[in-house]
Amino acid sequence: RKGNVIITGASSGLGLATAKALAETGKWHVIMACRNFLKAQMAAKSAGIAKENYTVMHLDLASLDSVRQFVDSFRRSGMPLDVLVCNAAVYLPTAKEPSFTAEGFELSVGTNHLGHFLLTRLLLDDIKQSDYTSKRVIIVGSITGNTNTLAGNVPPKANLGDLRGLASGLNGLNSSTMIDGGDFDGAKAYKDSKVCNMLTMQELHRRYHEETGITFASLYPGCIATTGLFREHIPLFRILFPPFQMYITKGYVSEEEAGKRLAQVVCDSSLEQSGVYWSWNKNSASFQNQLSQEASDEEKARKLWEISEKLVGLA
Ligand code: NDP
Repeated sequence: RKGNVIITGASSGLGLATAKALAETGKWHVIMACRNFLKAQMAAKSAGIAKENYTVMHLDLASLDSVRQFVDSFRRSGMPLDVLVCNAAVYLPTAKEPSFTAEGFELSVGTNHLGHFLLTRLLLDDIKQSDYTSKRVIIVGSITGNTNTLAGNVPPKANLGDLRGLASGLNGLNSSTMIDGGDFDGAKAYKDSKVCNMLTMQELHRRYHEETGITFASLYPGCIATTGLFREHIPLFRILFPPFQMYITKGYVSEEEAGKRLAQVVCDSSLEQSGVYWSWNKNSASFQNQLSQEASDEEKARKLWEISEKLVGLA
């Protein structure tokens, strides 16, 4: 049978390119888990993904009810689940004030981390039951959350501190809207959320890999300077960023190439190792990359796991 893969945020950018790359192999059925149903349908159509190779299902990661409803609808579809790709993200670098999810969490961490945390935890049982040869959970990371790199050292830097803001609810009422308890900063909130993604991947690996055989992985696909991720940025940035990445940092990668990279992490047998953060060199060859000290801090990963469980209602 074909493999079934859920990709969150498959309505644009990296998620869409990955859906297309996998559908074109003829070996995958892609469940596009998207907040805007019509946009996702149109995106799949204009990308030329054949009808029999995808299903769009509604998922708004900024609402935990929606995450639970998505899991119910997916189960009702009767499809087995072989691979989950947590790809969706919001990035609000110019926001002066925080926005919030349905439950009142700061929007970047609420969507990128907490929504995916609940989704993954709920779907783990489904993936366990699959009889597919290589079952995987992939959480898209980023270099920007990784302070052992040049890009990760552009201020404001990611820093989860002692997680006091997260522990007290991240809602701006009785707590800060930032994980470390500091003042709201949209760019930092995004980077923090990516550190959470990378810590969660490793914690999943430690807790479940041996018992389930599921591969847990993260990746930095390269700088895809053309995606919608930068839609909230100032216009001058949006004009200058792609050529800057192309000619100066040379970190630029097209959406198509980035989609192929993520597709490799989904199904390539050479990328089956669990607990790994994948990157690609200039010749587009994959290698296991190092994470920053904070993004590989086991104690922080455990604490993040426990607080996140409480916030999403699992503990
Ligand atoms: P895009 O903005 O193009 O794609 C983000 C996707 O997430 C969209 O499909 C968007 O939906 C979806 N999304 C946003 N909020 C929600 C929500 N509440 N519920 C469900 N879906 C949601 O950005 P990219 O393709 O660039 O980003 C994809 C991933 O790649 C992210 O995890 C990002 O951190 C990562 N990444 C990107 C890099 C880059 O250079 N672009 C570099 C490194 C990592 P909609 O279409 O409705 O807006």
